[in-house]
Amino acid sequence: MKVLIADDDQLSRMITKAAVEQSGHECIVAADGDAAWQLFQEHAPQAVVTDLMMPGLDGLALCRAIRAAEDGSYTYLILVTSHGTRNDVLAGMEAGADDYVTKPLDPFSLHTRLLAAQRITSLHADLARYRLALAEQARTDPLTKLHNRLKLSEDLDQLHARCERYGRDYSLAMCDVDHFKSYNDIYGHQAGDAALEAIAGAIAHQARKGDGVYRFGGEEFLFVLPEQSLAEARLVVERARAAVGALGIVHSGDSSGVLSISAGLASYVEGHRVDSEQLLKEADLALYRAKAAGRNTVAVAE
Ligand code: GH3
Ligand code: MG
Ligand code: MG
Repeated sequence: MKVLIADDDQLSRMITKAAVEQSGHECIVAADGDAAWQLFQEHAPQAVVTDLMMPGLDGLALCRAIRAAEDGSYTYLILVTSHGTRNDVLAGMEAGADDYVTKPLDPFSLHTRLLAAQRITSLHADLARYRLALAEQARTDPLTKLHNRLKLSEDLDQLHARCERYGRDYSLAMCDVDHFKSYNDIYGHQAGDAALEAIAGAIAHQARKGDGVYRFGGEEFLFVLPEQSLAEARLVVERARAAVGALGIVHSGDSSGVLSISAGLASYVEGHRVDSEQLLKEADLALYRAKAAGRNTVAVAE
């Protein structure tokens, strides 16, 4: 572990440092509370062993600052108390400390505390990893590996707010697989799944860095195209439509003989600053018109 030691007394610092190193940990040493806070932010140590009374930030303030700054991570805080009075200890624990040792420092006591520190911080690190993985999983569609609707709503809210504030453009394109129900009916649901996977891959491949492609629903995908006016966005969506056709997934229920997609496009541009819900509706309406126009085509919102 990386352990930060904070103590304004030089002799105490040396004793604590020797004990921490003897326990097999790496040491960073600060001579007062302010320096400790600086070093904490720089090095993100797993544990802090801090004196109570120090010039600048005292031990209690340091504990509070560290707890307030924690965002998913966890630092194990050990107080070194001179008097060992119950009030000091209580105040320290209430300020966020996990444990305490008394001066004069007994290296064995500190060693055992650091063992607990290691166990607790490693548990917290595991938790943080699981949380991150779960958050990603909750935003990912398991079949296509594209981001799902939850992620879309988060991203779109953010993008819309940014574009509204800075007067920037973006476009949305709602894509839908043509005659997909009959594809399932003819080839079976498993083949349908495989086709969706392939189509998602082909579509996503046409997106550039910064563009978003989401699985909106069953066989519907949504392009989110920041900084793209209608004409630019249309090129991307046309490429996606062509790429799906180029997969050549045979579909005897479609007059063209292969699976295709239709898309409806709507843009947030000067003279048309509507909210994102409205823009989605417009893209959906345009999709409807692409379907009515014979499918395998891109239609633009009126
Ligand atoms: P249109 O050209 O008008 O879009 O016709 P469509 O048949 O594609 O439209 P419809 O909305 O009637 O059918 C969509 C079908 O997509 C129905 C549903 O079973 C299928 N579907 C949706 N999600 C999945 C999925 O995850 N896997 C499979 N295999 N099929 C799906
Ligand atoms: Mg469809
Ligand atoms: Mg559909």
